[in-house]
Formats: sequence, structure tokens, C-alpha cells
Amino acid sequence: MADNKMSLTVKVLLGMGLGICTGLAINLLELNVAGSFVNVYIVDGLFHVTGKMFVNALKMLVVPLVIFSLICGVCGIGDIRALGRVGGKSFALYMLTTAIAIATAIFIAATAGIGKGMDISTEATFIAKDAPPLTQVLIDIIPANPINSMANGDMLPIIFFSILLGVSMLLVGHKAKSFVEGAEIANEIMMKMVNIIMSVAPLAVFALIAKAVATLGLALLASLAGYVGVLVSALFFHLFVTLMIVLKVGSGLSPAMFIKKIRNAQVFAFSTASSNATIPVTLRTVTKRFGVDNSVASFTVPFGATINMDGTAIMQGVATVFIANAYNVDLGIAGYLTVILMSVLASIGTAGVPGVGLIMLSMVFAQVGLPIEGIGLILGVDRLMDMIRTAVNVSGDAVVSSVVAKSEGKLDITVYENSEAGVVDGDEIQLDEEVEAELSRVLKEVKEQT
Ligand code: ASP
Repeated sequence: MADNKMSLTVKVLLGMGLGICTGLAINLLELNVAGSFVNVYIVDGLFHVTGKMFVNALKMLVVPLVIFSLICGVCGIGDIRALGRVGGKSFALYMLTTAIAIATAIFIAATAGIGKGMDISTEATFIAKDAPPLTQVLIDIIPANPINSMANGDMLPIIFFSILLGVSMLLVGHKAKSFVEGAEIANEIMMKMVNIIMSVAPLAVFALIAKAVATLGLALLASLAGYVGVLVSALFFHLFVTLMIVLKVGSGLSPAMFIKKIRNAQVFAFSTASSNATIPVTLRTVTKRFGVDNSVASFTVPFGATINMDGTAIMQGVATVFIANAYNVDLGIAGYLTVILMSVLASIGTAGVPGVGLIMLSMVFAQVGLPIEGIGLILGVDRLMDMIRTAVNVSGDAVVSSVVAKSEGKLDITVYENSEAGVVDGDEIQLDEEVEAELSRVLKEVKEQT
């Protein structure tokens, strides 16, 4: 049906490449001046609207997708002890990878000595918003009003409510059968919606990237080259070395196959700078491309998007060293250990939406006594760094999902090793064979009657 069509991944990558070129051209030719035609109608008009519409479409799917897939997941596991095991393992792995991420980041940044001898008289300012205290994060896991949590898209309370609902359905047993079946059908419908929305992704990715590059340009990056260079190296190190070791040692799965198949989710994370908005794509990648059973993925993916922020922790580690050096503050070993602990805790409280990592950084700074206004120094490049670190955050979620699924015997290795498994071809919506057969049967009947 779609033999000679370009795969969606290739199209999305093409959209990304064209977006970078277009954005750069607009920026270098200085066409994006406030009030100009290009600024009003193209960058803040066409690109902004197309990109935002797509991000909204992704966000629209998150809450129902998480609820239905979690209910199906819990009912699919069918055993409450196994559910506890999956929860415990993924939580431990999420925290462990985040702690390793920040420790490596601090080590790399300290070795590179970034920020030393900097002139900090730059008059950048940052008004810190209050980061929520950990006690409140814990209290908020239990939703006083689940509908309210759904309306606000608060992931942890939604996860809690859905799991409890699934467990209760399991306990009710036979009587709840139709409810379980209903959730399964709803889950399938939501997955179909993901496919439909993904079909316009290449265009949307083009618009999102073109706008970001046209607005940011490269000059800003050059001015903070040391910070950006070290941060990007630490992020790449974590992605290609640490996470791949965790994958190989934890599950024996092939890192090369992982890197090849995770690309789509990474591009979405990069374009939206939001782990939450990427949940539909991550969930699809992990289940359909990696062969992780929905009973595990439905839990580990939204849970990871909410509490696992390896890339964000790396940014916080590098930023801490950078600002400490720039302000000539010696944090000492105890200071850096506090930073590691605070960043791991902060990642639990960091929502998977754009820019929150920077807000949580103020909490880390406050704890170790670094000047909060130092954040102003890195503010300018944060959007781009946010895009890269979100791609790392999402990759971490997928690694842990695969490791946990493999250890539970819930990963179909034939799917994982088949490089074509779950590929979305072309941009047309493909009907399942059964649906196609049914459709042609109905059409035949109608013809016969008329
Ligand atoms: N944008 C990141 C995410 O959604 C969070 C952050 O670092 O700001 O994963």
C-alpha cells in the first residue's frame, strides 16, 4: 500500500532540517524585526499558529490517552503485586539515572572549568518564581478532585487516580468486564488519534523549529559558547554512553536499535520542549516500535515524563558549576552533594512542560546559596537547551521502560529487533485489514440493495 512512500520519520527529519535552514535564513537576513511583514505574518503568524495548533493537538491527547492506557495496563498486568514491582523498579531506575546524570554533568563542567574569570557585570536579570516545596509535591499526588486534575493536566494525581481505578476494576472482577472492554476500545481509538495527528507532524515540526531558530539565532549561542558546549557534550554523553550502558547491562537489548528507533520521539521532544506533550509519541514508540507491552508502558511512560528528567538535571549541574565559577563561589564537595540531592528531588517536581527546569534551578540555587539572579546569564539560551534536554529526558523514559519490561518478560524481542516494526508509512491513514474488509462488505451490500 505504501511501498514507495517516505516514512514519517524521514519526513519529520526533513521538516526539521528545512525548519533550521529557513529559521537561520530569516535570522541572518534580519527579516524578523518587530513589526515587519515576516515577523508579523510569517514567524509570529504562520509558524507560531501552525506550531501551537500541533502542540495543542498533542496535549489534547495526553490526559485521555494516559487514563485509558493506564486502566488497560493495570487490568493487563492482572496482578497487583506485579504492578507494585513495575512501580518500584521504574522509580528506582528513574532516580538512579537522574543521579548519575547530574553527577557526570558536575564532573564534566568542573573539569572544563566553565565560567571561570567571567565578567558577571552583565545586567541580565531573572525574576525567580517560587518552586513548589517537596511536601506539597507529595500531598498533590492524591487528587482532592480528579476532574480538576484532569482539567489542569496534572500528571501525578491523574496517574494515581487511574491506577486506583484499574486496581478497583480488577478487584470487582467479572462485573466490571464491560467497563474494562470499554477502556480497551477507548485506548485503541486514542492510539488511532495519535496516528492521525502524527500525519501532519512534518509540517508542524518545520513551523516550530523555524520559529525557534528565527527568534533565537546563533549569535546568542556564540556568546555563551562555553556553557552551551559543555552542556550539550554532557547531554550527549548521557544519551549515548550512560543510558546505553544502562540499557545493555539492564536488559541486554541492542543500543544501536534503540538509537535508531527512538529518533521520532526525540524529534517531537525537541520540537515541543515538553515531555508531557510528547507522551503520545513516546507511548507509541515504546509499544509499537520497541515491543514493550502496554501493561508496562502505560505506567512507565507517563510516570517517567513526570518524574524522570535526566536532561534537566544535567542542565542544573552544568549551570550550578557555571554560575558558581562566574560568581567566584566555592561550593565544595558538600555543596555539590547537596546539588545532586536537590536536583534529583527537583526532577520529581519538575513538570514536563517547557522551561520548568529553569524555575526549579532557583530552588537548587537557593539551597546552596548561589545568587538566583545568576540564572539571568543563561536565560537567553535556555529555550534551545530546553529542546535538547527534553529529547534526553524522553530517551531516559524509553530506556527505563524497556529495561523494566524486559525484566518482567513483557518485551517482545522480535518486535524490538525488527527495524521496520511499527513504522508509520506515508501520511495517509491506514485502515486495519479487518476494518477494510468490513468496509468493503458494507459497500457491497449497499450496492446490491440499490
Ligand atoms: N522541558 C522539560 C521537559 O518537558 C523540562 C525542563 O527541563 O524544563 O522535559
